[in-house]
Amino acid sequence: MTDSPLRIISRQGSAPSAARADLPLRMRRLRTSENMRALVRENSLSPADLILPLFVEENISERQPITSMPGVFRETEKSIAAVVKEAESSGVKSVMLFGVSHNKDDHGTDSMKPDGLLARMIRSVKDAAPDMIVMADACFCEYTDHGHCGPLDAHGHVMNDATLENLAIQAVIAAEAGADIIAPSGMMDGMVTTIRSALDESGFENTAILSYAAKYASAFYGPFRDAAGCSLKTGDRKTHQMDPANSDEAMREVAIDLDEGADMVMVKPGLPYLDIIHRVKSEFRVPTFAYNVSGEYAMLKFAAQAGALDYDKSLLEMLMAFKRAGADGILTYAAIDAARLIKNQA
Ligand SMILES: [Zn+2]
Repeated sequence: MTDSPLRIISRQGSAPSAARADLPLRMRRLRTSENMRALVRENSLSPADLILPLFVEENISERQPITSMPGVFRETEKSIAAVVKEAESSGVKSVMLFGVSHNKDDHGTDSMKPDGLLARMIRSVKDAAPDMIVMADACFCEYTDHGHCGPLDAHGHVMNDATLENLAIQAVIAAEAGADIIAPSGMMDGMVTTIRSALDESGFENTAILSYAAKYASAFYGPFRDAAGCSLKTGDRKTHQMDPANSDEAMREVAIDLDEGADMVMVKPGLPYLDIIHRVKSEFRVPTFAYNVSGEYAMLKFAAQAGALDYDKSLLEMLMAFKRAGADGILTYAAIDAARLIKNQA
């Protein structure tokens, strides 16, 4: 036995007795059948973990396919109802809404109106599926003519405090329309405090805040900007979004947002930042969400279309990676596909 290649020299954990140290440790014992693997599985995926991001465009008569995101559409204000019902029947319980505005100006005023696109699309979803959790992306880049996340100063930089004043109005408009969760995504300093106070003052103390706490200035958002029609005319988002080289900074961002009253936090993008998800969950132990962004979705879709990857298997493996890293929920454009696959496996 001592010559066996399986002989274990040392084991991790508690010190084994001298006799046991000579026994082969066969990790494969627990992988012998699907039921055995299921018995010892450490993480699981459920349709309830998945949040479906949706794009709603005003003033169009037909839903528009997004060429950089195969299978994803800009929905019309009518077609959104059917998609939300489809999501609900697949087991998905939450959606995140993004508007594609035809009424843009330098402040994104349309999103601060009770009859603007933001408010209308929230009401449409709640009418179609009252139990669906609706997350409202709270930012202005979808509604400004320059594509930035708030009004600009003379240098073309987003003005932080002027944006906060607008966010307070936008958040209450979204809550009045029925949003369950306000999700500020602009990385403005003080955004969570501002929104929490505005919601509380308007009687929405039960409306939750999911902060895009650690949002990186990433190249993986490219297809989203096509989809949401919010490409920048000039400049970039590096003055407010995070440097991909930083990790401690993400912990500071999350700590600040939690201190300001965020109920949940998000890390965006997802796959290239699994280490950040793991650090956030390990350090703060709060509901932590990962955004599996448009570029990640496009990579998988186009690789599958080219015959390089099995879409179904790669998708579930990718989503499981987020759970393993510590994410409680995952925003993914493939939420309906994944929910169906998970149900079929059960
Ligand atoms: Zn923005």
